Amino acid sequence: MNKELEKSGESLSEIDGLEIRKNYSLSRLTSIGTGGRTKIYVSVARVGALKKAMKLIKGPFFILGSGTNLLISDRDFPGVIIHLGCGFRRLRLEGDRISCGAAVPLARLVKKAIENSFAGFEELSGVPGSAGGAAAMNAGTHIRELGDLVETLWMVDTKGRRRSFNSSAIQKKYRSSLAPVPGVITSLCFRRLPGSDPRRQAERAESLANGRKLKHPWRERTFGSTFKNPPGKIAAKLIDKAGLKGLHIGGARVSPVHAQFIENNQGASALDILELIKHVRQVVQERYGVLLEPEVRLVGFTAEELGDLAPYAISTIK
Ligand SMILES: Cc1cc2nc3c(=O)[nH]c(=O)nc-3n(C[C@H](O)[C@H](O)[C@H](O)COP(=O)(O)OP(=O)(O)OC[C@H]3O[C@@H](n4cnc5c(N)ncnc54)[C@H](O)[C@@H]3O)c2cc1C
Repeated sequence: MNKELEKSGESLSEIDGLEIRKNYSLSRLTSIGTGGRTKIYVSVARVGALKKAMKLIKGPFFILGSGTNLLISDRDFPGVIIHLGCGFRRLRLEGDRISCGAAVPLARLVKKAIENSFAGFEELSGVPGSAGGAAAMNAGTHIRELGDLVETLWMVDTKGRRRSFNSSAIQKKYRSSLAPVPGVITSLCFRRLPGSDPRRQAERAESLANGRKLKHPWRERTFGSTFKNPPGKIAAKLIDKAGLKGLHIGGARVSPVHAQFIENNQGASALDILELIKHVRQVVQERYGVLLEPEVRLVGFTAEELGDLAPYAISTIK
C-alpha cells in the first residue's frame, strides 16, 4: 500500500461510523462476478461520518452501490471503495412525499411508491440495484427514467460538504448521473404526482417484470445492458444483426437470449469480458458505422487494457 493511501486508511479508522476493511474482495459484490481486492473498503453508517471521510480520502476512490452495473478489473484496486450502510436504508412516506436513502433497494422504493399512488414508478419495476446507484445512472427504461421522478437529491461532495439539488438543478441525461457535481448521493425525495391509479400501476409493474424475465437472461451473471442505445437506434438490434449473439471470449459470451447482455457463464475474467465488449463494438462499427458507448461502468483497468474504451472508464489505474 502506498504511503498516502496508508495515511488515508489510518485517519479513516479514527472516524466513528466507518467500518474499514483492508484488502477486501470485490468479486462477490458485483452481479457479473469479477473484481480483485480493494486496498481499503469503507462501509459508512451515517452522513456525518461520510462528510469527514470525504475530506480525508486522497487518491482513487469509487462508490459501490449494489454492483449491478459494474465491470471491475480483477487486479487489486489501489484506492478506497465506499459503500453506504445502515444509516442510508431509510424509506419513509411523509404526506405527499417519499424520502429514500441511497442504499435502499430500488425495488423497495418502487413497491412503496406504487402502494402509495406515486405515478410513474411502475415503469422502473424490475430494474435491480440501489436507489443511489439508480440516481447515479439515471436508470430506467425507454419510457421512464428515475430523473423524471426525483424532486430533491442530497449528496456529499468530494470536499465533504452536504449539498442538495432540486429537480431543476439535477442533470437529466440518458444513463448519466443526476448529481451535478461529483460525490456520494445520500438520499432522494419524490413528490406524489397527479394521475396515479395504484391497481393499474401494480398490473403494469407485474407485466413489465414478467416481460423482463422472458426477454433477459436473468438467471445468468450479467451487468444489464452493456451499451447505451445510440440516438435513434437500438444497440441490441445492431449486435443481433451483426450475428454476435452467443459469441464468446474465454468464459464470457454475448447472451443468446438478449444481445445487449454479456454473461459470465464460465468463470470469465474481467479481461475476457472487456475484450468481448471491445470486439462487439468494433464489429458493429465496421458493419454499421455506429460506435457504441458503454453503459456499464468500467473500473480499475489500465489505459492499455481499455484501449478505445479509456475515455469511458470511471477510474483508470497506472
Ligand atoms: C439483470 C439486470 C437488468 C438490468 N436492467 C436495467 C434496466 O432495465 N435499466 C437500467 O437503467 N439499468 C438496468 N440494469 C443496470 C443496473 O441495475 C442499474 O444501472 C442500477 O441502477 C445500478 O445500481 P447499483 O446500485 O447496482 O449501482 P452500481 O452498479 O454499484 O454502480 C453503478 C454506478 O453508480 C455509482 N454509484 C452507486 N451508488 C452511488 C451513490 N450512492 N452515489 C454516487 N454514485 C453511486 C457507482 O460509482 C457506479 O458509477 C440492469 C442490471 C442487471 C444485472
